[in-house]
Amino acid sequence: MPALLDAGADVLLVSPELTPALRAHVDAGRLHWEPRRFVPDDLDGAWLVQAAVNDPAAAASVSAAAAERRIFCVRADDRAAATAWTPAVTRHGPVTVAVLGGGDPRRAMTVRNAIRDLLGARKGPLLTDSVEEGPPVNFPPAEGRGPAAGREPAADRAAGRVALVGAGPGDPELITVKGWRLLTEADVVVADRLVPGLLLDELRPDVELVDASKIPYGPSRAQEEINRILVDRALAGAFVVRLKGGDPYVFGRGGEELLACAAAGVPVTVVPGVTSSIAAPAAAGVPVTHRAVAHEFTVVSGHVAPDSPASLVRWDALAGLRGTLVILMGLKNLAAITETLTAYGRPADTPVAVVQEGTTGDQRSLRSTLGAVAADVVAAGLRPPAVVVIGDVVGVLDT
Ligand code: SAH
Repeated sequence: MPALLDAGADVLLVSPELTPALRAHVDAGRLHWEPRRFVPDDLDGAWLVQAAVNDPAAAASVSAAAAERRIFCVRADDRAAATAWTPAVTRHGPVTVAVLGGGDPRRAMTVRNAIRDLLGARKGPLLTDSVEEGPPVNFPPAEGRGPAAGREPAADRAAGRVALVGAGPGDPELITVKGWRLLTEADVVVADRLVPGLLLDELRPDVELVDASKIPYGPSRAQEEINRILVDRALAGAFVVRLKGGDPYVFGRGGEELLACAAAGVPVTVVPGVTSSIAAPAAAGVPVTHRAVAHEFTVVSGHVAPDSPASLVRWDALAGLRGTLVILMGLKNLAAITETLTAYGRPADTPVAVVQEGTTGDQRSLRSTLGAVAADVVAAGLRPPAVVVIGDVVGVLDT
């Protein structure tokens, strides 16, 4: 069903009952549902029929009606009785490979996976004439269009483009499947300091790798320089992957980069990532929510001191929350932050965990309390990157 919808099919579902997954498609208006049994007239105007019922006689009557009208019919119950089969598919830019396994779907998938690996390892004009597989997420805006509508012919597209890809929190296996695929297709990769090095080891040898953390100048000039590199390379025709630690939009300046590309007319795809604000606590045994313990979690940047005029954070309001507080970039100001929270009323015995380099082989963490954590972090010698988790969820999984 997802493949049909993705291809832009206008799907009519005839069935007295729905599975929850199908109900979700119906509720979202993606397909039309007739809540009854099949009648032959249902096939009027159809191009393809899929009979998926566990009653062979009912399936046979659908098949017969389809054959009479010369409409291809896929049979879930009896492959031999079908006139069409659903292949295992792999897509690589403009190329689609569909595999039929002679009646054994597992065989089809195994062969498909082998082909996918083979093509994924390769890159050449055949497989990459700058066509993105899915629609760009944010720019140009895709609102109001179906999933297939984002696919424009290659000729309509600027040659180059940018993908803002979340690399995940540190463990190189925590990048998304899509992020990984785009990374293997990139001509240019602009990577952050927090990006797992192992991911970069796997790039093709001819990829231009730009280490954004080595760009001189102060932070804002460096950001301008990064934006310029993204735009220049894309306008020159390259596929540029901007690889960022965690999720691109969580304190990652992903939005600024998107706007810079948009202003230059460069198409951008955003691929979300597993954020350290959730993953680092999880890696240290702390769930950011837990039933009957915390019904909220708030992610806050601690890089500006609470008493600074530049602070945008209402620490007084945060102190009044009962749920989980996750602080990123908070080690330098930890003493001031914890003092502010206790001064505004969060109890000093609230449990706290600090996780350094979460999900990596170098992960270190400690447990403390709001009143003691700042001193404990100094004593233990913890250093950035680290997240601070405050709340009763700390310890809830301890057995
Ligand atoms: N976009 C990133 C966050 C960037 S801000 C994300 O979604 O994860 C950088 C801060 O993230 C660091 O100072 C630290 O607080 C946190 N951080 C990133 N990776 C981390 C890791 N592996 N372990 C602990 N904290 C991490």
